[in-house]
Amino acid sequence: MSTVGFDPMVVKCADQAFDMLSAKTKQFYKLLLTTKAKLPNMSKRLIADFGVEDMLDQIYLLPHFVASETYIWSFQYRLLNYILFTNVKLLKIGFALTDKCTFCNSYEETFYHLFFECSHVQAFWRCFVNWWADVADEKLTLALHDIILGLPKRTDILNYMIILGKLYI
Ligand SMILES: [Zn+2]
Repeated sequence: MSTVGFDPMVVKCADQAFDMLSAKTKQFYKLLLTTKAKLPNMSKRLIADFGVEDMLDQIYLLPHFVASETYIWSFQYRLLNYILFTNVKLLKIGFALTDKCTFCNSYEETFYHLFFECSHVQAFWRCFVNWWADVADEKLTLALHDIILGLPKRTDILNYMIILGKLYI
């Protein structure tokens, strides 16, 4: 392999040479913007399941607006990327004997079943809605997308409480 013509201070970005020694701050900033973070792969599943392609930024940023604890951010991020270990996943990798739900033992423990569809979890969310009606004087109707994604249009403590609810489950 020939190294003739190779200069470690010149990088190639978007098919254009970028000379780091002569570049100005403005050009560095432009370079950084071209390599900014992309949406996670699993955002496609969120779009397919919930039709939220125009709200993805708000959904991913929501935990950072409503909580300051890193474990809350981390949990919600893992949830949005479907990387929490349900029994369905644990069975596939040999760490569980069944893929059935831990609570009802009747259905597969998928994400949506574990956090919303299970009858035991539904009872929990009913208690949550009743509690919220008492403390906030507001009658909520929580759907699957409210539980999984949160309510991106709200900036009050409700979203924080929903994430804590999921952590409790
Ligand atoms: Zn269940």
